[in-house]
Formats: sequence, structure tokens, C-alpha cells
Amino acid sequence: MTYEKGTNIVVGMPWMRYPVGELLCRIFQGDTLTSISQRLRNCINYCPMRNDPLTQDTVEDAENYIRQALLYDDFVPAQLLAQGSFIRCMEHYRALDSETVKGLLAQEIDRSNEDPMLFKTVCFDSVGSFLRLCYNNYLIDLINALTLFIGMAAVKSGTASEEESAAYEDIRQHLNDPDLIPSIEMQTTYNPASGEFGYSYVISSFLAMAVFEFSHLADSATKVMRCQNPDCRKFFTAKRTSAKYCPFESPQRPGRRCNDYYPQYLRRKKTKADELLKMEKNALSRLYMDRKRHPKHETIINGLISDVQIHSPGKREEVLRGELSKTDYEEWLKAIRRNKEDIDDE
Ligand SMILES: [Zn+2]
Repeated sequence: MTYEKGTNIVVGMPWMRYPVGELLCRIFQGDTLTSISQRLRNCINYCPMRNDPLTQDTVEDAENYIRQALLYDDFVPAQLLAQGSFIRCMEHYRALDSETVKGLLAQEIDRSNEDPMLFKTVCFDSVGSFLRLCYNNYLIDLINALTLFIGMAAVKSGTASEEESAAYEDIRQHLNDPDLIPSIEMQTTYNPASGEFGYSYVISSFLAMAVFEFSHLADSATKVMRCQNPDCRKFFTAKRTSAKYCPFESPQRPGRRCNDYYPQYLRRKKTKADELLKMEKNALSRLYMDRKRHPKHETIINGLISDVQIHSPGKREEVLRGELSKTDYEEWLKAIRRNKEDIDDE
């Protein structure tokens, strides 16, 4: 990835340009990473080399196997990041000497016993147990990154709940540990056409990616915002702080984006709400009129009026939520009147 004045560009894919923060919003929200990680987990479970002893050769085969397993995802940056993260874990563990391995393995086993998401049988003796160990570390890096992302985005967008602020504070304390954030490799590039040097960054950790992005947020023209669609609440980046809704799929209408669909949905809802309110008003004026004409029935009519006042707001909500039809609501209002016999007596 290269970074240039608030924009990240995927190396080799110059059309993949994202303002700072946007890649995080795209990668860390929705189902992309869940499905990538699930696929990775399945591939490890069914790895044909899983019972082979761990050697220089088998580990290289396993690495190729993992690379191929991760080839099938629609969002390339997420796939590249997942691949890089997993391969980094593999390389990190391969490079350790046997003394370090012993101490580390005990810690890893303890940790895997505490978390149901992690694989239990991790070791360095077979390809399968080694891949499971790498997966556990891949997953922990991912979970840390997600916690940081949600906390940071919530705080930066000014929409953090109490729990989000607390989780953010907690991970912020941990970030002081230099071993926690895998390093980012910087490479120089030379452009023969312009004769200029540039830099690209090799990021092979979800957490490092989150830290990299947030560290550039201050000099970016975009801001992290949170979708104001109450059923969505996804984070997104925008140039204008007046942006209210995200460019991701709307929960109310799959296939349409929040920023396109939700305002329209709200307007329609408002029109419908106004219409229902008008029906309620008509029903009340009918009752007020009746009371004025027939003061002797005042007590009964007052009861009817308070029936409308108490129950109608709830009924209107039901219609807006689609649980009650508009016609049924109208019928309900019409039925709130004095008995026919009382009226005939007059
Ligand atoms: Zn949204």
C-alpha cells in the first residue's frame, strides 16, 4: 500500500484508492472478515498435509495452501490483509529457536483454553497443529484490531457509548506494549518516468493496519462518521461533516445504500405519520363536537376521548412499524363512539 496526502493506494492496483479510514470501514464492517476467517478455519481443519511432520518443506507447502485458500474473496484489500496477517504469523513462529518455543507454547495453550474461539490443540510437531497455532494468533490480532477500530471510530465520530469508550480505553492501555503491534515494513520505490523516489508500506497485521490508518487521520480531509440510520450505525468516512448516512447497504432495504434509501424512507414515514395524525385529529374533533351538542353525555364522551388519547399514539406506532394496517387503524378510530341506542334515544 502507498500513502499519499490522506489517501491509501493498493500497490499494483492504482484504481484502488481510499481516503484514510475508508479501508478500515470497508474491511472491518460487514461480513467480509468473518467469512474470510471462517474459510481459513475450514481450510486448516481439512488441510491434506495436516498430519505431516513439520519440516522446512511441509511448512512451505502449507504456506502455498493457505495463500490459495484465501484467493476467493470479492474485496481484494481485505483478502490481501488477511493473507499477509496469516503468513506473518507463520513466519514469526518458524523463525523461533527451540528454547523460546517451549516457553511460548505453554502460554499459547493457556490462552487457547480460555477462549472458545481459539483452537485447542496447538503445537509445533505437525502441520495441522502448527497452522492452528498460527490461526489463533491471526485471530487475536484481528480481535484487537476490531476493538481498536470500533472504539476509535466511535470516539472520533463523537458517538461512543459507555461500553465503547471503556473498550477503547482498555485497548489504548495495551497499545503501550511494543510487542503487541506488529511492525510495518517500509519499502522505497523508484519511478523511472518521474525520476522520483516514493515509499510503499507492507502491512501484514490487522492491528497495524488500524494503527496506520488512525495515525494519518489528523491530516486527512475526511472524517470518520457514524450512520444515523438507527438500524445501521456503521462507520464511514466523509468530507463533509453534514453527511448523515453511510454508503453501505441499508438494513431496511437490501440492495440500496443507506445514504440513498434512508432519507427517502424517512420522508415516506413522515408522510404516513402525518396522515395518521390527521385521522386521529378528525376522530377527536368528531368527539368534541358530540360533547358540545350533547352535554348530558359528557362523562361518557370524555371517557371516549381519553381512550383515543391514551391508545392512539401506540396504534400509530404499530402502523408505522407495519404491524397494523392503516385501514384497521381507521376502523378502530371510527368505532370509538357512543352506542347507537344512546344516540337513537335523543
Ligand atoms: Zn448506514
